[in-house]
Amino acid sequence: AKGAVGERICTYEPGMDETARQRRQLANDLRNAVDRHEFTLLYQPQRLLQTGELSGYEALLRWHHPRRGVISPNDFIPIAEETGEILTIGAWVLRQACIEAQHWPKEQKVAVNLSPVQFRQADLADTVRAILLETGLSPRRLELEITESAIIADKLRALHCLRQIKAMGVSVAIDDFGTGYSSLDTLHSFPFDKIKIDKSFLLRAENSAQARAIIRAVLALGKSLEIPVLAEGVETERQLEVLQKEGCEEAQGYYFGRPARAPSLSVSRAANS
Ligand code: C2E
Ligand code: CA
Ligand code: CA
Ligand code: CA
Repeated sequence: AKGAVGERICTYEPGMDETARQRRQLANDLRNAVDRHEFTLLYQPQRLLQTGELSGYEALLRWHHPRRGVISPNDFIPIAEETGEILTIGAWVLRQACIEAQHWPKEQKVAVNLSPVQFRQADLADTVRAILLETGLSPRRLELEITESAIIADKLRALHCLRQIKAMGVSVAIDDFGTGYSSLDTLHSFPFDKIKIDKSFLLRAENSAQARAIIRAVLALGKSLEIPVLAEGVETERQLEVLQKEGCEEAQGYYFGRPARAPSLSVSRAANS
């Protein structure tokens, strides 16, 4: 579970051995998971709020563990990052997303999450290029989502890498904006194509004036830097109304559609109906 390492240092409780043992077991199981075809991708729609148009789908990874059933990425990505297995898994995700997107009825974008560990590889741009060539997906249809933690360690190298990726025609979104290390400086100096406001702000928006103020501030920032903003975690009509009133360009969330095995052919809910 989250924070297990910290807990082990502060208070040693019985049961911690069990947590560590389970973690080791999962780390071990992860090593064969790609080869055993235990991963699948789900896709969640992203909508333009002005027109209601479906602009793309975010690929979200699921692990079908042979004994434990479906495991959420929050529970295994950190382990895979620790062991380095994320590189194999991440390459699989990228390739699989490109392959599947080729079969969609319309040429929407596919957004793929990149771990900071992947982003720190010197050959990331080469990997992306090779997978695009191999799968034949147009670079214009690929968007990579990175968090700011991916760039803070070595900003110059990150900038170089981003430029290489963008030169191919692939777009890059900054994910979970507003949390963690987010700073105006990064946003200003990196060529992002989209800002994704973290869903925690929208979840709190109805009860927290502060959360609403942050959403408004990020939207204003996007406007002045001319970077479109996507709000994550839209669950209710009320939240959607707030976003539309504030001039948010794009949104994603259960209100428009849950992550699903394939893009739904039917248009579920139009943003402006
Ligand atoms: P994320 O990139 O911020 O993805 C959004 C998460 O919010 C997803 O959780 C999605 O299912 C969930 N979500 C979408 N709409 C709503 C909503 O309306 N309300 C609420 N409460 N949640 C919503 P999921 O699929 O469990 O993924 C969790 C995290 O795992 C992702 O957060 C991302 O950081 C990571 N992840 C997922 N797939 C991959 C992957 O292929 N590679 C890497 N490196 N990380 C991934
Ligand atoms: Ca994401
Ligand atoms: Ca996010
Ligand atoms: Ca996240």
